[in-house]
Amino acid sequence: MPSSPDQIIRPEILALSAYHVPPASGMVKLDAMENPYSLPLELREEIAQLAASAPINRYPDASAASLKAALREALAIPDRMDIMLGNGSDEIIQIIALAFARPGAMLMSVEPAFVMFRMIATFTGMGYAGVPLKADFSLDMDAMLAAIARHQPVVIFIAYPNNPTGNLFDAEAVSRIIEAAPGVVVVDEAYHAFADASFMGKLAQYPNLLLMRTLSKLGLAGLRLGLLVGRSEWLIQLEKLRLPYNIGIVTQLIAEKVLQHCDILLQQAESIKIERAVMSERLTAMDGVKVFPTDANFILFRVTQLNEAGEVFQGLKNRGVLIKNLDGSHPLLKNCLRVTVGTPGENAQFLVALQALLKT
Ligand SMILES: *Cc1c(COP(=O)(O)O)cnc(C)c1O
Repeated sequence: MPSSPDQIIRPEILALSAYHVPPASGMVKLDAMENPYSLPLELREEIAQLAASAPINRYPDASAASLKAALREALAIPDRMDIMLGNGSDEIIQIIALAFARPGAMLMSVEPAFVMFRMIATFTGMGYAGVPLKADFSLDMDAMLAAIARHQPVVIFIAYPNNPTGNLFDAEAVSRIIEAAPGVVVVDEAYHAFADASFMGKLAQYPNLLLMRTLSKLGLAGLRLGLLVGRSEWLIQLEKLRLPYNIGIVTQLIAEKVLQHCDILLQQAESIKIERAVMSERLTAMDGVKVFPTDANFILFRVTQLNEAGEVFQGLKNRGVLIKNLDGSHPLLKNCLRVTVGTPGENAQFLVALQALLKT
């Protein structure tokens, strides 16, 4: 008699709910921190030609050397640092966790943070410690240092800027965490294009620092390409866990081509930053809305009057606008919602719909 899944699958996996991606067809999609702009037609035609002549009957270049050189150039990665590529940075988080997951080992982050840190700790059988942020979403350094001393985490993930709160933590405080950590600290700079700060320049100073980036929020979410930058001592080991052909040939070719025109993506990021300021100002002007500061391509806000976040979320959805409801995901996010900065037209649709809801 074969066993049923609940007899053989690990109980912690049975207890998980799958990462939920809501259907968004026909909606104004402001839920997933995507860049709303497409690439210029000329570049898209070049991409079409690359795809047409790609040798898809062959396995891709397992080392993706040419793409890595383009990344090194476009992202100003220091010569002395190595690069490891992942199928999105999600895969890199998983590779790191797999490497450090000895029995009893702890992965640490802050709360609220990117949910994949906790989920991947569970996937890989690691313990997880999430240290609550302060009510203004800054780092609680006393709690952080105490938790490091108590749990001795083998790896700490810090998103900089943080998701879902949008803020940059104090750089001095992050440095103190790196100095206090008994293991590695991964600074996840998924939103780097929208912030004017980075730990790239600190890699040489801290032997236990690794830096993660992704092309997803910059405009290539559909390609799935993330990267880890760090010293070869670490990356040589992590490379052993990377599945040999994790970056497909089409992703390699297209990412390299687009990186040669990186200025286009950076210009789009600048437009998004301008729109972010406009949108924050309009939201702040609304009665019953508290807006949190952001250095990312999204805005976290709290509804403070009458409406519950769930009602606002559903009301927006009924009006064709999809954002993210964070109420219930963490006590600090009571009645909070997160909206991605879209095109000026999309943002206007969102603001009009929200204003109408708040008046009812
Ligand atoms: C979106 C996001 C990622 C994942 O990005 P992918 O490269 O698309 O897998 C990683 N970290 C943070 C903080 C994010 O918000």
